[in-house]
Amino acid sequence: MAAALATEEPATRAGQALTIIAQNIDQAASCEGPICQDTGMPTFEIKAPVGANQIWMKREVRAAIAEATRHGKLRPNSVDSITGENSGDNLGPGTPIVHFEQWEQDAIEVKLILKGGGCENTNAQYSLPADLDHLGRADRTLDGVRKCILHAVWKAQGKGCSPGSVGVCVGGDRTSGYLHAKEQLFRTLDDTNPDPRLAEIEEAVMVAANQLTVGPMGFGGKTSLIGCKIGALNRLPASFFVSIAYDCWAFRRLGVTLDARSGAIASWLYREGDAPSVPMLTPEQLAAGFPLTGREVRLQAPVTEDQIRALEVGDVVLVSGRMYTGRDAVHAHLMKHDPPVDLRGSVLYHCGPVVAKSGEHWTVTAAGPTTSIREEPYQAEILKRYGVRVVIGKGGMGAKTLAGLKESGGVYLNAIGGAAQFYARRIDRVAGVSLMEFGTPEAMWHLDVTDFPAIVTMDAHGNSLHQEIEQASGEKLEAVRG
Ligand code: SF4
Repeated sequence: MAAALATEEPATRAGQALTIIAQNIDQAASCEGPICQDTGMPTFEIKAPVGANQIWMKREVRAAIAEATRHGKLRPNSVDSITGENSGDNLGPGTPIVHFEQWEQDAIEVKLILKGGGCENTNAQYSLPADLDHLGRADRTLDGVRKCILHAVWKAQGKGCSPGSVGVCVGGDRTSGYLHAKEQLFRTLDDTNPDPRLAEIEEAVMVAANQLTVGPMGFGGKTSLIGCKIGALNRLPASFFVSIAYDCWAFRRLGVTLDARSGAIASWLYREGDAPSVPMLTPEQLAAGFPLTGREVRLQAPVTEDQIRALEVGDVVLVSGRMYTGRDAVHAHLMKHDPPVDLRGSVLYHCGPVVAKSGEHWTVTAAGPTTSIREEPYQAEILKRYGVRVVIGKGGMGAKTLAGLKESGGVYLNAIGGAAQFYARRIDRVAGVSLMEFGTPEAMWHLDVTDFPAIVTMDAHGNSLHQEIEQASGEKLEAVRG
């Protein structure tokens, strides 16, 4: 990410996005807070010697997950798929994911990856041969694999919080392919694939993907991908799957090797002992905060239609006043019920924050935007029905919302995905909460904010930066089709 920051011009949208990300990384390190409010699906890969008690280890893993959730390090993320109820402690059928493998060593190796929903939703699986937009036919060859990966990076745009990394599996079946693809994300970004044929494709993908100019958060720019790691499994003669696990810039992994007898940590993986992490910014840069140019537009909620219609794609906006969070459950609820608060002129933030309660008071410890496209079926109707003027999220929205913004006089602001610590520090207080029955990430939080920065990426004149970048990067895809 430091290399990405050095690559982009500071005054561009990509540069501003990476500056916020860099600040966020340092802020999260300094308070040991979640780097992103979506602390993801905890997935453990454990290698254990013969005779190690896996039932006991799984119990310990579950206890650790519950404890980390209680301490606000993990957001309650485990939801009953039938009732929608959040278990509150990150435990439930299928959560956390724990995979064991026996090996012929004495030590126990434990690796953990936290991969959030935004990037998980951009995973892709291809069945070759296939015809791909802008790339033509992808055959059952390594060149076909290369095309699939580039297509997946292009499709993801900023929705998975680019710049991202991809773990890829060539072959396997539909299930083992995805699993093996995710396992590739445990490799270090600077390693070299031991298979020279795959190493060559990894390198070719890195070069081509970074020519697409999807850029950080899909804002356009030079850095779209920070890693490509490919593995292969044997397949059935009739099947040829290419499975792609996309991970976001908040690439969270950690691991340890344990003494199998005492359980003591023998060594750390992915970090050098107890050495502190290297800061992204100097203390002065960190203290300076978000670099203002003087051209930012200040919006105080509630907002008028005239203020909104004056905004254009590319404007940097600083929002102050009351905003309300709303994700999937809130949007579905508002289609059938009146809102619990007056939403006329309001700011609706697509966010599922990490919150902590002390006595009667709530504090937000992490509050970045969630992927907005999930609310596409609802957003235009909610804008029209309740007079919402500003929608803040990440990754952009589709044609229906764009038309709704134009009709109702609304604007979509793209905040920087994953910048949970940065945005939490823009929240002065939690003024209230509604719809708590949906669980803390899905409730409607009433947040008072000051100078909350975001970029207009869809305006009330029918313009969408997301459409523009998708089209432009699609044309670039044609140039690298080979
Ligand atoms: S950085 Fe973005 S994609 Fe990654 S977990 Fe956070 S919100 Fe999700």
